[in-house]
Amino acid sequence: MTLGTRIDGARDDLVALTQDMIRIPTLNPPGAHYRDICDLLARRLGRSGFDVELVRATGTPGDSDRYPRWNVVARYAGTDPGDCVHFNGHHDVVDVGLGWTRSPFGGDVEGDRIYGRGACDMKGGLAAAIIAAEAFVAEHNTFCGAIEISATADEESGGYGGVAYLAEQGYFDPARVQHVIIPEPLNKDRICLGHRGGWWAEIETKGEIAHGSMPFLGDCAVRHMGAVLDAFETELYPAMAQRRTEMPVVPDGARQSTMNINAIHGGQPEQPPDYDGLPTHCVPDSCRIVIDRRFLVEERLDDVRGEVVALLERLRMSRDRFAYEMRELNVVLPSMTDKTAPVVETIHAAIEDVLGVAPTYVASPGSYDQKHIDRIGKLRNCIAYGPGALELAHKPDEWVGITDMLDSAKVMGAALERLLLPS
Ligand SMILES: [Zn+2]
Repeated sequence: MTLGTRIDGARDDLVALTQDMIRIPTLNPPGAHYRDICDLLARRLGRSGFDVELVRATGTPGDSDRYPRWNVVARYAGTDPGDCVHFNGHHDVVDVGLGWTRSPFGGDVEGDRIYGRGACDMKGGLAAAIIAAEAFVAEHNTFCGAIEISATADEESGGYGGVAYLAEQGYFDPARVQHVIIPEPLNKDRICLGHRGGWWAEIETKGEIAHGSMPFLGDCAVRHMGAVLDAFETELYPAMAQRRTEMPVVPDGARQSTMNINAIHGGQPEQPPDYDGLPTHCVPDSCRIVIDRRFLVEERLDDVRGEVVALLERLRMSRDRFAYEMRELNVVLPSMTDKTAPVVETIHAAIEDVLGVAPTYVASPGSYDQKHIDRIGKLRNCIAYGPGALELAHKPDEWVGITDMLDSAKVMGAALERLLLPS
């Protein structure tokens, strides 16, 4: 048998495994049923001959006895020394949201599609990797190195209770793992080399409260924030638009520096919708915004931060009574694997072999767990490659294509043959 026919023969098994995972509602927040899905995968991979370990990320954000952050790591050692290929998928899914016409946790199959929250992001990809690895070890009773599969928590909320924790414990040490493939839904003929960075901060402008009929007796924090937003429009946004990246980010609009203003609030607190009292009349003494600045491998975090601080400092010098505070909320550094890295070249060749097309390289506008493997694990040979369309992620009626899962499983299997069989 060839690996490809073996994977085709596992079609029903692949569908059933994907459905079983979708039917466990691993919602994040709060981090529900993580142990259940880890147990399911531990039983399955244990039966297939993997050594299985359950790892709780104790003390990480959100971890509690009610919602423990469980991860599963499975390893199948070959007969001879060699490289370790690690497939990592997150097992958490985001909120269902409105607008579904199918059951979000039903795993319904219709034609070539499996529906459900997490179908494409990324239980389908994880199932495809598992089928590929199982088919490989069934096909080859001797091989070099090792195969690892991990299913990890909390990617949707930053990965601190998942890949970051495992990386801190040494699971992604380059001495242990040499190649990492993350089967996120990036399409079966594309290789995702990495992602942009992110810098999140809250900026507060200060004022002085006074009666709204005599605003000159106070100092309006909202007007000060207006000056900040004006400086963003006239200086920062045009400057960011000039900065194009060599990273192959898709969609094209994200192939430059971007910044979203996530929230703005100033003045008296908003009242609940059922409150029908009239507002009081006050000059606001505080206005806050939250910014979400995405940056490129060509930019340095210090410069990204410094550019905003310089703009605020200029206002402080030029604008009467301007005072502000800035609080940094979170940082993610960009990550980009080189096109000549072994895992990239191997998947490239495997896509050409299996699908008969040349792959395209992409990078993600938002970040995923590669950041932790790169920054904490110090492993620079990591990509995202998996079935499904990113545009369906987090949407109602999310689905994954069965043929796409089979095709990407064949690509992953062919990559294993290239990396782990003696040449
Ligand atoms: Zn995902």
